[in-house]
Amino acid sequence: MYVVGLTGGIGSGKSEAARLFAELGVPIVDVDIISHELTASGQGTLEEITQVFGKDMLNSDGSLNRAALRQKVFADREARKKLETILHPAIYNKAMEALNKNATAPYQVLAIPLLFESDRYLKIINRSLVIDSSPEMQISRASKRDGLSESDIQKIIDIQIPREKRNALADDIILNDGLIEELKEKIKRVHEKYINTCVIDNSNP
Ligand code: ADP
Repeated sequence: MYVVGLTGGIGSGKSEAARLFAELGVPIVDVDIISHELTASGQGTLEEITQVFGKDMLNSDGSLNRAALRQKVFADREARKKLETILHPAIYNKAMEALNKNATAPYQVLAIPLLFESDRYLKIINRSLVIDSSPEMQISRASKRDGLSESDIQKIIDIQIPREKRNALADDIILNDGLIEELKEKIKRVHEKYINTCVIDNSNP
């Protein structure tokens, strides 16, 4: 099994990059998607969240009020820790399950916003790839996508690992400062490199 950890700050273009890898036939395991699935209506994890944070965290249809939960954990460090204790082990187990299912692929991509903050994921990846963008671009892309204010996005950027530190830790960096077409070309190039690297690595277990 050869795993490339795909990361980057909010709005850097991780999901776009993951989509482009998927177009090239690379299996993607996305920690954000797993987190959404685990907190969908009827999931045990959602029940745990409402037990700890109260029914205020639910919409009237019983689904998770993600905005309310986000608000709560940004304002309160302890609450953030509690949420992490509920979510992180469940997400990790699901991610490992999914990675194991794709084990025969030449390589696969694990998309994870907080890769360098998460020791357990760092242990299982073979390489890290950072999608890098300027903070101005992160803010403009993410605010358009999420309908959040500039200051809300800035708050998220501020609790993530600083750009310079993230880039210093990366094995590979793709600067996503142009058109999607340019990102596509860069992903293609790195894909070819991974295909060559993982062939060597997979034959030396
Ligand atoms: P992340 O997953 O890192 O938070 P996304 O991949 O969702 O970021 O990108 C944020 C938004 O910016 C999305 O709406 C995406 O389509 C858009 N986007 C990403 N890269 C580019 C680009 N190179 N040009 C134009 N829009 C982009």
